[in-house]
Amino acid sequence: YEPLSIEAIRAEFPILQTTVYGYPLVYLDNAASTQKPSVVLEALDEYYKTINANVHRGVHHLSQLATDAFEEARRKVAAFINAAHDYEIIFTRGTTNGINTISSTFGRAFLKPGDEVLISAMEHHSNIVPWQMACEYYGAKLKVIPMTDRGELELDEYSRLLNSGRVKIVAVTYVSNSLGTVNPVRDMIRQAHAAGIPVLVDAAQAVQHILIDVQDLDADFLVFSSHKIYGPTGIGVLYGKEAWLNKLPPHEGGGEMIKTVSFGKTTYNDLPFKFEAGTPDMSGAIGLKAALDYVDSIGIDRIQLAEEALLTYALDALSTVPGIRFVGEAEHRAGAISFLLGKHHPFDVGELLDKQGIAVRTGHHCCQPVMDRLDIPGTVRASFSVYNTPSDVDRLVAALVKSGRMLG
Ligand code: PMP
Repeated sequence: YEPLSIEAIRAEFPILQTTVYGYPLVYLDNAASTQKPSVVLEALDEYYKTINANVHRGVHHLSQLATDAFEEARRKVAAFINAAHDYEIIFTRGTTNGINTISSTFGRAFLKPGDEVLISAMEHHSNIVPWQMACEYYGAKLKVIPMTDRGELELDEYSRLLNSGRVKIVAVTYVSNSLGTVNPVRDMIRQAHAAGIPVLVDAAQAVQHILIDVQDLDADFLVFSSHKIYGPTGIGVLYGKEAWLNKLPPHEGGGEMIKTVSFGKTTYNDLPFKFEAGTPDMSGAIGLKAALDYVDSIGIDRIQLAEEALLTYALDALSTVPGIRFVGEAEHRAGAISFLLGKHHPFDVGELLDKQGIAVRTGHHCCQPVMDRLDIPGTVRASFSVYNTPSDVDRLVAALVKSGRMLG
């Protein structure tokens, strides 16, 4: 592969010109949300300036154009993750909304008292709480695949838990947002399928770093958020295998998701509309398409290689910081590095980094059970994306050394 032209990439992101407290911004909070390239901002602007109208309803010209652009965005997403059919792509409000859609509908259709839902010890709250709520409602039990001190799932335990005879669905993250661990989801799905159990993959931290092929993974459901892959906020994707989506009841009721309505009875629309009640986020879908086009213009495989190299560089460079302790040391990692500095609270470290123009995340990263498991209050997390450079890492390292000295 040609190496990425990082300066050209950075020039695409207007916000990277920002200064913070007089320092050029170093943005290392990409796992929370990525910045947006001009092509995405222009696509949003262009949409509202030229074709804005409600989709799927109007006979008029603009409505046709908006509908075409919206459905083209769906086709783009399908191609991006290699879905077998466009109608297996449901537009959602984000990862959280996608998981809730499945936990509610799957719960209603399939969960009974005594059943089990299997998640992992490193899930984001949004892949815990919806399942917990469904379990509570239907009398099922939430089971958890444990992890090691290094932040890797205990796969022997996974096999054991999977074969209890009571597990109805597995929901697991592809990449941990708090530890950076890449889980072997392809193998985990194969094992689950051998026991006849479907799997939902939380790809919120994977899709921007790793080539995703839902057919190769054989995922039954896969969810992600646009805002973490350079797209706008407020929109996300739920992929579901046709057979599974057809087995589930609709999530929300309203316009768009119906075929016919009378006070006596309503019939539901076909996929994907059955799961898209109400006016969808048209501009969001079009912005997401622009973001995925942008990623394709570079190549996710090239991005992956460049980010792996940057992660290796960062791990080496950070290990020179006095008092640093890495949290999560999985063999396979992507996107994020979590650490603690001496005995200092992550928040204090994060605040001093901010004062030096460096944006990181501190705290539990919506993974309180991970912090409890490792017996720490939280971490400082630096997370990377396509526009980060070794010089960003050098700035982080220098600022950490300085912060360590200031905190004493
Ligand atoms: N899962 C993971 C692994 C995440 O990192 C996040 C976002 N931090 C989510 C789910 C939730 O995503 P959203 O807030 O966009 O719905």
